[in-house]
Amino acid sequence: MNKKSLYINMPKKIYIRTFGCQMSLRDSEFVAGLLLDDGFTLANSIAGADIILFNSCSVRKHAEDRLISNISDLKLLKKKRPDIVIGLMGCTAQAYKDKILDRLPILDFSCGPGNESDIPKIIKDIMENRCGIVATDKINDKRPEIFPEYRQDRFRAYVSIGEGCNNFCSYCIVPYTRGRERFREIKDILKEVKDLAKRGFKEIMLLGQNVNSYMNPSRNLTAYSSKPTAKKSDFVRLLEALNAVKGIERIRFMTSHPKDASADLFKAMRDLEKVCEHLHLPLQAGSNRILKLMNRGYSAEKYLKLAGEYKKYVPEGSITTDIIVGFPSETREDFGNTVKMVEGVGFDGAYMFKYSPRPPAKSVKLKDDVGQKEKEDRLNILLNLQREISLNRNKLLNGKAVEVLVCDLHKKDNNVLTGRTRTNKVVVLGGSSDMISKFVNVKIESVTPHALRGRIV
Ligand code: SF4
Repeated sequence: MNKKSLYINMPKKIYIRTFGCQMSLRDSEFVAGLLLDDGFTLANSIAGADIILFNSCSVRKHAEDRLISNISDLKLLKKKRPDIVIGLMGCTAQAYKDKILDRLPILDFSCGPGNESDIPKIIKDIMENRCGIVATDKINDKRPEIFPEYRQDRFRAYVSIGEGCNNFCSYCIVPYTRGRERFREIKDILKEVKDLAKRGFKEIMLLGQNVNSYMNPSRNLTAYSSKPTAKKSDFVRLLEALNAVKGIERIRFMTSHPKDASADLFKAMRDLEKVCEHLHLPLQAGSNRILKLMNRGYSAEKYLKLAGEYKKYVPEGSITTDIIVGFPSETREDFGNTVKMVEGVGFDGAYMFKYSPRPPAKSVKLKDDVGQKEKEDRLNILLNLQREISLNRNKLLNGKAVEVLVCDLHKKDNNVLTGRTRTNKVVVLGGSSDMISKFVNVKIESVTPHALRGRIV
C-alpha cells in the first residue's frame, strides 16, 4: 500500500473555525454536516484535526486580519504534517479568489459561499493530490435544498431564508461576495422548520442579509395566510406560516433593513405569539449626509419614525443596532448627529465599529480621511453612551418576572446557567445542567449593561 492510499483509508477529522456573523456560523454548520454525512468526524481542536477549515466574513478588516494571522500560525504545523488539508471558505475566499493562495500559500483550497456544497468533493480531490484548488464560480447559484442532520445546538437552530443582497451600501462587500438577493420558497423553509420541530428544536433564527425584503420566489402566497387578501409583506406571511408550526416556541430573525421595515412587520411581532420581541435594525449613522454617502436608502428622520412605530406596537420589545464611526468625510457635526440618534432611540444594545475600506466596495474611492485616533475617540464616546443606555434599559426589568430559555452552563461555574429572554437579553441564573433547553420564569434581581441576573420563580 502506498502512502497516499494509507492516508485516504484513515478516518479524517475536521475542525472548522468561524470568524463572522450568524450567516457564517450557519454556513460552517452546513459544511460540517455535509462532511459528517460523508464519513468525516469532528475534531475538538486544531491539534486533533486532519482537515482545518477557516470560515471568514470579510465585512470588517479586523476579522480579516485575525483570520490571516490564525492561518499563518499554522505554518509550522503544515511543515510537520504536510498531509493536513487547510482550507478557507466564506466571503474572504470569494473576495480574494485565487490571490488568496499567493498571500497564504499554506492553504490547500479556497471556496466561496456559492460553492460550499462542493467542499467534501474538493477535500477528496486534494487528498488525491490536486492541490491549490480555488472554487468561486457559483456566486449566484441557489443553494441546493440539502439539509444535513448535524446542528451545533440541540434546541436552537439557524434557518437561512435567503442569501445575497441588492442594496450595495457603499462600505459593504456582501453583494460582491454573496451575489444578488435570492430567497427560498416558503414551502421549503416550512419543511425544514417542521423537521426541526419534530427533532425537538424550540427556537429558530431566520437568517438573511436582508430578511424583511423576503419575497416568495414562486409568488404563491395564498396558502400561507389566514387572510390572503390583506396587504402584507411576504416576510410577514412567512412569519405567519412558521408561527403555526407545532413544537416551535420562539421565532427570531436577523437582519432587517430600515428601508424595508414597516408597521405590518411590527404588528406581526405584536400579534404572532411565537415571534420574539427583538428587532435588530442597523442604523449605521445619524447624519443624513453620511447615510446618503453610505447609500443606505433612508434618512435619520425615517429611522426615528420607524423606531417610534416599533415601540408603539411592541412597547416591551428591545431594539438593537449597528453603527459605523469615522466613515469618509464624517465631521464632528455628523458624528454629533449619530450621538443624538443613539440617545433618541434608546437602543438596548449596539455593535459599533470603526470604518475601514473594504475593496471592491464603492467607498474605497472616498478618501479615508478621519484619523485613527479620532475614530477611536468617537467609538469610545459611543460605547460609553451605549453602556449607560443599555444599563438604564435593563434597569426597567428589575423586579419583573421574564420568560427565559435556558441555553448554557456558565463558563466559570457549573451551578450557574445562562439563558435568553424573548427580547434576546442574556440572563444569569442559578441551576443545574438538566435545565438546559427548558423555559423558566425568572425574577430579575440585578442588572448590568450586558446582562440580567435573577432567580427562578
Ligand atoms: S444591506 Fe447593505 S450592509 Fe447589509 S448586506 Fe446589503 S449591502 Fe451589506
